Amino acid sequence: MISINKPAFNNIDILKKCVGAYPSATLNNAISHFQKIYGSYDQLMTHGEGYKIDASQELENLDKKFMLKLYKEQFASKKGGCREEYDKILASAPRQKCPMCSESIVTALDHHFPKSSYFLYSIYPNNLVPICSRCNGEKKHTKPDAVTKQFIHPYYDDFSKEQWFEVRFISQNPIKLIYECKENDHLGEEASNKLKSHFKRLKLADLYTSNAIVKLGDLKNIFRPLLKTKDWFSVCEELKTERDMVSGRPDSWEYALFEKLIKEDWYIKGGFVNID
Ligand SMILES: [Zn+2]
Repeated sequence: MISINKPAFNNIDILKKCVGAYPSATLNNAISHFQKIYGSYDQLMTHGEGYKIDASQELENLDKKFMLKLYKEQFASKKGGCREEYDKILASAPRQKCPMCSESIVTALDHHFPKSSYFLYSIYPNNLVPICSRCNGEKKHTKPDAVTKQFIHPYYDDFSKEQWFEVRFISQNPIKLIYECKENDHLGEEASNKLKSHFKRLKLADLYTSNAIVKLGDLKNIFRPLLKTKDWFSVCEELKTERDMVSGRPDSWEYALFEKLIKEDWYIKGGFVNID
């Protein structure tokens, strides 16, 4: 998935600016509390222990309703005092691709720790991540409060140089395949669990399988003329070229597909026609 640099804002200035828009609201002694919980969030995420971050409790006059209002009116609203920061975070996704699936276009900011339970982080930039509408819908209000309920966080995790999921064929004729998360034990237990949870909860298998089936249909058109001469060498070379083309993205559905296909003798020797 896609790694993104953390937003480089002064997080306490953002808090002051948002709260300052409401003359009756006051931060009182809350600033030191926010410094503490923001710092703790950053530390725990950096060390792969995000599941230890506590859900929010009301803080003086800063209750859930007010914190959600701050995000809605000051951050997400076109007229909000921090809309510029919202737009900058939205634009931080390279090539406008969703960092959670690497496929669809970014459409919104997601509260990585959902604002419904972690409302004190409602305007914390490090908790605001660009996301596509599909991933946003699948993620919903999942509380990442256990090792097995976490998602890849694009500001803290970078698995983009790992081939951490793979393709498995269920049948050769007709061709049926499925994408699966690997065990990834070499990355450690916490990372391995995070990858499994991310892959399953965002239903990446469905998304990638659907893309791969379309690609296999296209490949059939290219390879069919080679059936007559049984030129399997050319089939293999073409698959290697396709694989090499995406070798900079080993955690992509394309890389997993070609990496598998070049090892499948039955596919190379004419099995490529077994797709509708
Ligand atoms: Zn996505």
